[in-house]
Amino acid sequence: MSETLKNVELIRRADPVEEALYEVREKIYPRAVGGWFAGWRVAMVLATQIVFYGMPWLRWNERQAVLFDLAARKFYVFGLVLWPQDFIYLALLLVISALSLFLFTAVAGRLWCGYACPQTVYTEIFLWIERKVEGNRPHRIKLDGQPFSLDKLRLKLAKHGIWIALSLWTGFTFVGYFTPIRELASEVATLGLGPWESFWILFYGFATYGNAGWMREQVCKYMCPYARFQSAMFDSDTLVITYDNARGEPRGGRARATDAKAAGLGDCIDCGICVQVCPTGIDIRKGLQYECIGCAACIDGCNQVMKKMDYAPGLIRYSTENALRRGWNFAGMMKRVRRPRVLVYAAVLLAVTLGAGVSLALRVPLKVDVIRDRGSLSREVGGGSIENVYRLQIMNTEETPHRYRIRASGIPTLAVAGEDVFEVPAATARMIPVRLRIDADEGRSGSHRIEFAVEALDAAGIQTHERSTFVVR
Ligand code: SF4
Ligand code: SF4
Repeated sequence: MSETLKNVELIRRADPVEEALYEVREKIYPRAVGGWFAGWRVAMVLATQIVFYGMPWLRWNERQAVLFDLAARKFYVFGLVLWPQDFIYLALLLVISALSLFLFTAVAGRLWCGYACPQTVYTEIFLWIERKVEGNRPHRIKLDGQPFSLDKLRLKLAKHGIWIALSLWTGFTFVGYFTPIRELASEVATLGLGPWESFWILFYGFATYGNAGWMREQVCKYMCPYARFQSAMFDSDTLVITYDNARGEPRGGRARATDAKAAGLGDCIDCGICVQVCPTGIDIRKGLQYECIGCAACIDGCNQVMKKMDYAPGLIRYSTENALRRGWNFAGMMKRVRRPRVLVYAAVLLAVTLGAGVSLALRVPLKVDVIRDRGSLSREVGGGSIENVYRLQIMNTEETPHRYRIRASGIPTLAVAGEDVFEVPAATARMIPVRLRIDADEGRSGSHRIEFAVEALDAAGIQTHERSTFVVR
């Protein structure tokens, strides 16, 4: 072989094997499973969906109970009316949600993913429809492997038709949190939907159909950021779904009557049920994997097998790394729940939740913004007075109208000139021009600190104070 050919051969051998950047998806056909944890998943699906689909239809004070009215910049949550100035409560809600996620993840791993995440919940619903239309796992595998036929077309059309109808209903409900849902329903009925409402119903519906019908586990595996950073919240005492290697291995098939110990076998009969029921298609016996969403379907599946074999349940179970290594029982694991990381998350969560609750309870349903009239900072008026003009934006955040008195203090003779009582309708902001005067001989030139006091005359305890300045030239 010539030198050049030898070199080419060496380069060819040194070349790394070409690998695809994207793993081609193998369709997963999760097998239906019943059991304790499946019951919890169904309960969570029902609870979350009853709340999601039902909430926008509830009424409160002759309006929609929960409505995020972006156009009017008001959020209605039952008796609470939140204004843009109340943005802090939205921020606090996000902080509380994040802290709850940290706490639950530190204690029991991916509880959120397995039971309450919309991706899991809608995948469960779509899978349930798929099973009802196409049958259980073996039927679905067989159907997909069949050549085209009218029967296959009928089943596929039925499944996708129901999926699309549910997705559109989901999109409609979602938009119904931002636009009064009863008006939206009559617009749909009369084909009078506006362009934005149509866009968001179709967009949210399409996202639901695509994510729950087609993408499924790929959303968790490739798109969800939480799957990537959740390991930072795990430690050796976090409850995760684990296969008991010591008990299960060496795995192997056997007849029910076989004495496993005598045959040198562990409790795993290698039936593959735990893999078949897994919605992400992984084998939990290979250890904790980031693809595991913690749905516990493999626990239910394996427990059914253990029952049939007359073995103790729990070959796959919730456990911790430390418990498996040290042979702790449930009580031993529970003792480790009170560890520094969990206590810190719990304390911060409690403090923020209490703070938010107290602040909401003490919240005065009145807000005032003072805007100085820049056009005329200070002027002399008849009767030897100096006058400053302001505009007060008075926001009545309650759902009843109120009459408010405006007063000012800070300079001995300071007083409101003219009308000082105004009515503001329910859940409305009103801009009110206010003139303040002092005696001319009172005012040294310069800027003086003053304070407005706005007080409801028809309700005790509704008052607020706002600072400003009075300018004398
Ligand atoms: S379901 Fe249980 S027995 Fe069957 S393969 Fe999985 S771990 Fe082994
Ligand atoms: S391994 Fe078990 S808990 Fe994890 S996703 Fe699969 S079935 Fe669910």
